[in-house]
Amino acid sequence: MRRATSFFLLLFILPFAAAAIDLPRDFVKAHSGQFTQGGMVVLHLQNATRVSLNGEALPQIDGRTVLGFGRDSALRHEIAFQRKGKRQNVAIKLKPRQYDIQRIDGLPPAMVTPPDEAWPRIIAQGKLKKKARAIASTQRGFSEGFVWPTRGRITGVYGSQRFYNGEARRPHFGIDIAAPRGTPVTAPAAGTVTLAEPDMYFEGGLVFIDHGLSVTSAYMHLDSLRVKVGDKVKRGDMIATVGSTGRSTGPHLDWRMFWRGARLDPALLAEGNPDQ
Ligand SMILES: [Zn+2]
Repeated sequence: MRRATSFFLLLFILPFAAAAIDLPRDFVKAHSGQFTQGGMVVLHLQNATRVSLNGEALPQIDGRTVLGFGRDSALRHEIAFQRKGKRQNVAIKLKPRQYDIQRIDGLPPAMVTPPDEAWPRIIAQGKLKKKARAIASTQRGFSEGFVWPTRGRITGVYGSQRFYNGEARRPHFGIDIAAPRGTPVTAPAAGTVTLAEPDMYFEGGLVFIDHGLSVTSAYMHLDSLRVKVGDKVKRGDMIATVGSTGRSTGPHLDWRMFWRGARLDPALLAEGNPDQ
């Protein structure tokens, strides 16, 4: 009995436990975030420090830079630091994650496999999303900390392998928060709106916010949009309301986070629980 209990606790705690990674003080004043699959880490650098991840230079703003790791990221990475003629390479090992399996049955077949005539629209909308996410600005909302964009019960988590009507589909990359239609959705951190579309095929009402250095957040299935492309938002500003538009089975917010091409786990960014 005791053994079973501690096994469950371990499973529950592992994905959220911070990896003990020491970064050299000669280069890094402080860091926040978690070195885990799906994690985003912000480094506060000493003056005049240059940093690269796996050989690729990372841009910075006000002495801060950000790096992220996707759902299935390799576990080993190398961060190289350079400052005033000194160099140091740090090998890091991410905490691996375990992901749930989620089955959603009873969906209309067209929601599981889009009909042929929907594909031109889906492809055009895919390009729109890619273009909006490619914006790499130098604002610093990414470094100010994130809060939950709405309140409600978590009904879907990051990374879970999904089966729709028994058919395997892509993993779920967002966190689903159930809330009544019309519940305010607020910006979890400062940024600029880079996409505001009321009627996407999969996402329905969709908003993207650029938080700087290629960190983008996305909000799906929105009922009404309260922002337009180019709007600057502060943390807590209302951007939309919760809805059930697009491929959705009930009112909820699907919140997603991206760093470059990597999809990050929003639940690792916001403190506490949205259901309070
Ligand atoms: Zn979702």
